[in-house]
Amino acid sequence: MKVLVIGKGGREHALCWKLLQSRRVKAVFCAPGNAGTALDVQNVAIEPGDHRGLAQFVKREGIGLTIVGPEEPLVKGLVDFFQREGLRVFGPRKDAAELEGSKVFAKELMRQAGIPTADYRIFRGAPDAEHYILSREVALIVRSRGRSTVRNTIHCRTAAETLEAVEHILDPREMLAPGVQVEIEDRGEKRVYSSLAEARDFVLGRPLGVVVKADGLAAGKGVYVCSNLRQAIEAIDQIMVRRIFGQAGDRIIIEERLDGHETSILALTDGRTIVPLVSSQDFKRAFDNDEGPNTGGMGAFSPTSLVTPQLMEEVEREILVPIVHALKRARRPFRGVLYAGLMLTNQGPKVLEFNVRFGDPETQVILMRLKSDLLDALEAVVDERLDTINLEWDPRPSVTVVMAAEGYPGHYERDRLIENTAAADRLPDVKVFHAGTKLRSEQGSGLAPRIVSDGGRVLNVTALGSDLNQARERVYEAVRTIRFPGGFYRRDIAEQAAREGEG
Ligand code: ATP
Repeated sequence: MKVLVIGKGGREHALCWKLLQSRRVKAVFCAPGNAGTALDVQNVAIEPGDHRGLAQFVKREGIGLTIVGPEEPLVKGLVDFFQREGLRVFGPRKDAAELEGSKVFAKELMRQAGIPTADYRIFRGAPDAEHYILSREVALIVRSRGRSTVRNTIHCRTAAETLEAVEHILDPREMLAPGVQVEIEDRGEKRVYSSLAEARDFVLGRPLGVVVKADGLAAGKGVYVCSNLRQAIEAIDQIMVRRIFGQAGDRIIIEERLDGHETSILALTDGRTIVPLVSSQDFKRAFDNDEGPNTGGMGAFSPTSLVTPQLMEEVEREILVPIVHALKRARRPFRGVLYAGLMLTNQGPKVLEFNVRFGDPETQVILMRLKSDLLDALEAVVDERLDTINLEWDPRPSVTVVMAAEGYPGHYERDRLIENTAAADRLPDVKVFHAGTKLRSEQGSGLAPRIVSDGGRVLNVTALGSDLNQARERVYEAVRTIRFPGGFYRRDIAEQAAREGEG
């Protein structure tokens, strides 16, 4: 069979690579793909948004199954379009993909189904959302100093009341007498301000653990984890007033900030049977020791001891089964990969988000360990006979390290030459998955095309080892073999787990 993978990241390269190992696969195509998929399989220059162009290619080439990698084409209805054209495709339809496409939809469905998740409120406008934030309890005492016309001591229960009291005392229009000050008492500690801006700043700096989320897709940037009132109000302002995510920010969720370890569980489902994949853990921050800004993911390893067999059972029972049933009851049957992003809290696992596709870079470490035929499994999902599939896994752990362009996730340069990936690939149990790369040919030079960078996350170097220590040794040896001036990577992927003897 010929298969087509849609997308151009490391996840899609890993899918292509694994599908190529299937005894039933004759040819693999990737649209639009990257340099890695160009070298391993065949790229097709069609963008994921071009549904008609993709369907025409599939018919012309006689593709037996199309696998959709990223969320955007799923949320935009690529699967529905393919099905209407009578084409076989792996991934949920638009109405089921809304589970990722709308956080409001996901939250309401979770509430209906009794799935554990952070408490939340939904807002359709900035004033209501801000009012909600400012009505949070602060318990401050405000006193005026050097002025007798206002009440001297005001006990304020909320931030809004505090701001009102402070503004009343320090209102510039009323401040006829110089030397008027405001004293704010917070649990016995007193501060004195003569400037309204400074006093407001203090009030808005009060701690507040909430997370503000844009409803729609925002390329992983629509979530603001806030520690104080100011951050929450700024988040509301960015999403709903400045509308930096456009329509995706028409509605927001403000939810309780959860504490704990984060992990994710991926499972195949055909809407009836659920087959969880092996556990994995990713590293979101840009730099070592979880420092620096959030990224799409700088590395991952599998398995993680955070996910014990008991936890897996609990997640299946309390989260995966109820969400799949809830979708079915809502007449939005889900067929594809379900990705549950979890916070492991003191009260058990709670869902942070659902994704409706393979995670990136989790897929790279997971597929590295898959021994079964991936095509068989994906087809079983499409044909609703997942109950016939038993996945077999390599017991050895795997690690992936992302090599990123200097400056990522901020501004970075493209078109940097990358060398020695083939040498790294030849190391034992190593696979170099490409993400943001492309091939550049020097016209008329007669030389083979060169690999250059074409994105923020550039390579996902992946290795298996007899234990995590060996997997790390191999992966970092491969990383050091690759020449990528202008690139950087984290040196501590899976380090702590390896030290603690996992895998
Ligand atoms: P991505 O596309 O990167 O997976 P996303 O934009 O869909 O992310 P979420 O996964 O919902 O957003 O949130 C991103 C991150 O924000 C989470 O990985 C987690 O670290 C943090 N986060 C989200 N919700 C909460 C919460 N309720 N409490 C604490 N942290 C949270």
